[in-house]
Amino acid sequence: MNVSIVLFTADLRLHDHPPLRAALDGSREVVPLFVRDRSVDGAGFAAPNRLAFLADCLADLDAGLRERGGRLVVRSGDVVEEVCRVAVEADADEVHLAADVSRFARSREARLRRALEARGRRLLVHDTVTTVVPPGELTPAASDHFAVFTPYFRHWSRWKPRGTFGAPRAVRVPDRIASEPLPSRDRLSGLSPALPAGGEREGRGRLTAWLRSGVQDYADRHDDLSGDATSRLSPHLHFGTLSPVELVHRARRAGGPGAEAFVRQLAWRDFHRQVLAARPDAAGSDYRTRHDRWRSGRSARDDIEAWRAGRTGYPVVDAAMRQLAHEGWMHNRGRLLTASFLTKTLYVDWRVGARHFLELLVDGDLANNQLNWQWTAGTGTDTRPNRVLNPVTQGKRYDPDGAYVRRWVPELRGLAGAAVHEPWKLRGLDRAAVDYPDPVVELSEGLDRFRRARGRD
Ligand SMILES: Cc1cc2nc3c(=O)[nH]c(=O)nc-3n(C[C@H](O)[C@H](O)[C@H](O)COP(=O)(O)OP(=O)(O)OC[C@H]3O[C@@H](n4cnc5c(N)ncnc54)[C@H](O)[C@@H]3O)c2cc1C
Repeated sequence: MNVSIVLFTADLRLHDHPPLRAALDGSREVVPLFVRDRSVDGAGFAAPNRLAFLADCLADLDAGLRERGGRLVVRSGDVVEEVCRVAVEADADEVHLAADVSRFARSREARLRRALEARGRRLLVHDTVTTVVPPGELTPAASDHFAVFTPYFRHWSRWKPRGTFGAPRAVRVPDRIASEPLPSRDRLSGLSPALPAGGEREGRGRLTAWLRSGVQDYADRHDDLSGDATSRLSPHLHFGTLSPVELVHRARRAGGPGAEAFVRQLAWRDFHRQVLAARPDAAGSDYRTRHDRWRSGRSARDDIEAWRAGRTGYPVVDAAMRQLAHEGWMHNRGRLLTASFLTKTLYVDWRVGARHFLELLVDGDLANNQLNWQWTAGTGTDTRPNRVLNPVTQGKRYDPDGAYVRRWVPELRGLAGAAVHEPWKLRGLDRAAVDYPDPVVELSEGLDRFRRARGRD
């Protein structure tokens, strides 16, 4: 066999890349191909923050390939048409692709397979590229997927991940295959000011630093909002600049309770993927309906606007929403309490919040975002679907001296310590001196409304 194609999607790396390894083992030349698919833009998934990160990833992938004698080929258009076109131009008989779980990814795979087979070529799909355990591999007795994390995690922990591969030494790309210019982040507007840089090199550097001095304290500090003591590897996992299999091996080698807790979070990622693989409709519909009749109309719209803008009057909620706008990323504790606030305290449809997150998150990921939103809204896999997080209690617990709020809500910088979580307690001139809104709703009122709606009063 002479030429094969590796179609890169959410696996933008050279290290530990089974499709690339298989292609190089079987072929004299390889076309590393990325197709900027117009239907992804059309479906609203092309958020500027992610396009910027993607541009970094593609530039770095191209640079890594060039160091090895190759280059990245970029095309835009319909992914199936473009792959078939390149297959003809390169006279390639095989296309290698990483398995993925969304409805879009699976339909892409099926269309590609049909189109290639009709032209006498083959599609080879590789699992364990974007997950540790292939979705559907671990199942309970009577179902095609686990609906609860704890038993899933028990099985997941016993799974023996495959070994990892290094990056290839050399990649030979046929000269005759033309590429469009790499997309650039310079032409994008509407980016979050403090967006992180993308690319495999960046991701590997971050991972090494994390394992050297970060992961040890993860079990104790992952919920500390101002400590910012999580890995921030999520965009790298979303774009596949890091291999989840490699992360698990390296974290386990580092050892200790921090590494164990970190590996458990990686299992959550696999958990949501196996749910979405079995129930692709859960990206847009309730996984478990609670017969919600979410609020709509003028007052709901005003509340949504205040939530998006970080002006709900609840400091820790507002701080987290402003972090999202500024960095394109939000701390997990912030995601939990802003999502609980929107869906339960304000009783607004989880899809409204999920869409806003996807517009901004640099790690915005269909499985993780939609299913975490559903978990928080109580329509997903949470075994306590009606729990409501109190933003004041949460603020005092996870930002005890108020440093996180003061970082993101400058209007409240004059308030010392935990007082920053309850600015409505200020009186007279002290209150007048603070230009910060009153709460959009009393917490007790929001709680009553939610309990009534869920038939629990
Ligand atoms: C409402 C809501 C929306 C979310 N949307 C996304 C999203 O779009 N993309 C995304 O990657 N994560 C999402 N998460 C999960 C989690 O908040 C982020 O993965 C995490 O905050 C990323 O920061 P980190 O890399 O520092 O995480 P760490 O704490 O260092 O964890 C390491 C990795 O484990 C995985 N992980 C951690 N927590 C979860 C979780 N609850 N579910 C699935 N995987 C997890 C992530 O890949 C993360 O990078 C969401 C959570 C909530 C509550």
